[in-house]
Amino acid sequence: MPGSLITHIFPGRCLVCGAGDQVHLGLCALCRSQIRAVPEPVCAVCGSPIPFPGICLSCQSGRPPFDRMLSAGIFDGLLKDIIHAFKYHRATAFRKPLAGLAFDMLEHAGISADMITFVPLHWTRMISRGYNQAALIARELSGYMGIDMRYDVIRKIRRTIPQVGLKRSDRIGNLRGVFRSCGVSDKSVLVVDDVITTTQTAREVSRSLKRAGASYVVFVSVGRIIR
Ligand SMILES: [Zn+2]
Ligand SMILES: [Zn+2]
Repeated sequence: MPGSLITHIFPGRCLVCGAGDQVHLGLCALCRSQIRAVPEPVCAVCGSPIPFPGICLSCQSGRPPFDRMLSAGIFDGLLKDIIHAFKYHRATAFRKPLAGLAFDMLEHAGISADMITFVPLHWTRMISRGYNQAALIARELSGYMGIDMRYDVIRKIRRTIPQVGLKRSDRIGNLRGVFRSCGVSDKSVLVVDDVITTTQTAREVSRSLKRAGASYVVFVSVGRIIR
């Protein structure tokens, strides 16, 4: 049903189903209950599910360039449908519940930062799509958290082919050096993306932020693909 999801825009109503019961940041209790959190415990660095609390083997053997990565839910079922409608069918009203899910999770985890920004699109893709879904979520989230929104700290300096369908080695090469950052010296930065598929994009963005002097980089996504 992706794409057929329509947005119910009535004040105080659930944006997904239109119900009016226990609506919090655009989602009713029933719709909210259909979104599955990433199962605990998760790695304290990369946020992937692990059998025991702590840091996963992969992060132990080589620390990623970001300091922390967290996701609000598993990219599946209703959350997948909402993100799909939001990203490809211009259902931009869904920015509110999507940012709401990230907000609740970040509050629970006690996360803050000096500024909020997002994974940029190349300007050519920005023109063809008309909006950057991650930027819309980030702007909403910055309002909820009371943290400065920054549009200009990360740039994507060349076009890349979509990561989906590429071999691992090609995915790494595809993104090498495509992001440039500035204006983050000694700052903690919270970077928003809609879905984390592989951590490759997050790694490249974080490398560019650290090169520009960022003191701490937290990556947050609404959805996460769990293998
Ligand atoms: Zn609902
Ligand atoms: Zn890890």
